[in-house]
Amino acid sequence: MIDCGEGTQITMRQMGIKIARFYSLLISHLHGDHCFGVMGLLGTLGMLKRTQPMHIYAHPDLQKLLQPWLDYHYKDLTYEIIFHAINPRKHETIYSDRTLTIETIPLKHRVPTCGFLFTEHHRDQEPIKRYAYCSDTMYSEKIIPLIEGVQTLYHEATYTEQDADKCTKYRHSTAKQAATIAQKAHVQQLILGHFSSRILEQSEFLNEAKPIFENTIIAKERTKYTI
Ligand SMILES: [Zn+2]
Ligand SMILES: [Zn+2]
Repeated sequence: MIDCGEGTQITMRQMGIKIARFYSLLISHLHGDHCFGVMGLLGTLGMLKRTQPMHIYAHPDLQKLLQPWLDYHYKDLTYEIIFHAINPRKHETIYSDRTLTIETIPLKHRVPTCGFLFTEHHRDQEPIKRYAYCSDTMYSEKIIPLIEGVQTLYHEATYTEQDADKCTKYRHSTAKQAATIAQKAHVQQLILGHFSSRILEQSEFLNEAKPIFENTIIAKERTKYTI
């Protein structure tokens, strides 16, 4: 699972996604809309009597913040939680096995943030699928070489161009900027998400992105961001 905002487990249940079915948690940065759901989720997994360890990849501050809570509430957890500290400022491989590699993508946001690049391969052979998750970030061409040619790019588009000034202030992107990154990186498909509640019609994001990058779709979202 990538990022875990408040209410994630409820949304998963509503969407029929099995909570017990994932192995690790990747957290892009420590803004609440990306990590406030972690504690509740870890508790639910305990109630489900999970035995498989849970790997959490995040900025080291997450462990600092969670540890007292874990010690207080979850002393008798049925499974082990293993923290892996990542340095969001550095591009690095954080996980690798025979079929999957996960690399970080340093992003430009108000706090240290990284995206994630997934490469799937058939046992030590050529990559068969590459997809990238980039949120939250302002427009940054530095990510282009890392995500060049991926099948699917998820890129945040908090605003449209009418709020472009807010992108600079809060370090987010417009739909046009996300589409420009997709086009310059020659990706196959762009998924836009992380929409501000200021913009009421999701079609506005598509209308702005599609002239630049045609194969753009909108992520199904339950949360709107009040920024
Ligand atoms: Zn953020
Ligand atoms: Zn966010």
